Order: sequence, then structure tokens, then C-alpha cells
Amino acid sequence: MTQQKDATLRERTLKAARNQSLFREINERIAEVNRRVGPFADGWVCECLDTSCAASIEMSMHEYERLRSHPNHFAVTPGHEQADVEDVVEQCQGYLIVAKRGSGAEYATAHDPRAGRSRAAKHPRSGAGEERVPPSARLRLSP
Ligand SMILES: [Zn+2]
Repeated sequence: MTQQKDATLRERTLKAARNQSLFREINERIAEVNRRVGPFADGWVCECLDTSCAASIEMSMHEYERLRSHPNHFAVTPGHEQADVEDVVEQCQGYLIVAKRGSGAEYATAHDPRAGRSRAAKHPRSGAGEERVPPSARLRLSP
């Protein structure tokens, strides 16, 4: 492989990851709406590298969550995978899960929309924070 080709592939790899991360952001919005309003749609955008792609993918919220649990996984319509920049890691009903390679993988992981999300919205464990009123206090409170 010539240096020229090398550079082109590297560029392509990064561009692909960038585009796909964009589609991932859109799907994250869809997921947010689904979580808030209730699951009303199983339609997600195809996360392939073609920014003009208008294909949609059907997958349940559960499947989507499973996909997003990996920072370097993207869902694409069968046939939209690009063998030179990504590997198909799983064939699912109606879509493929692909993983980026090299610099593409680095980009995808670095821009994982869920990576920086803290557990700020954690729910207090029920019972743990419950205050117990000592019997003496209860006595004093009674009229
Ligand atoms: Zn596509």
C-alpha cells in the first residue's frame, strides 16, 4: 500500500467515525424522547458513514441500549457497512452492528455521548436515608 493510499484510508476512517457519531447523537435524542414520553417509536436512523443516508432501522429500546453500551458500536442497514473502515461484529434482525477500526475506533470512543454522563441522577436507595425517630422524641412530641 502506498503512503498516499494510507493517508486516504486514515482520512476516510476518521471521517466515517465522525459522521457515524453524528447519527449516534440523533439516535440518543430519539432515545431520550422515548424514555420521557414512553416508547412510541422503534425507528432509529441508520448510523452508516453516508450523511445523506435516510434509511431507518427498527430496533427495540432494549436492543438500542445494548448497542449503546459499547462506545465503538454502530447500527447500520445491511449493505451500508464499509469493509475498509469497520468490522461487522453482529448480524441482527434488520440491521448490522459494526465496530470502527484504528483511529475511527478512537474517535468513536472519545465522542461516546454516554462516556461523560455521570451518575448524578442516581436514586437514593429506599429505606437507606429514612430517619428513625427515637421513642423519647416521639414522647416529647405528643400533646
Ligand atoms: Zn445508511
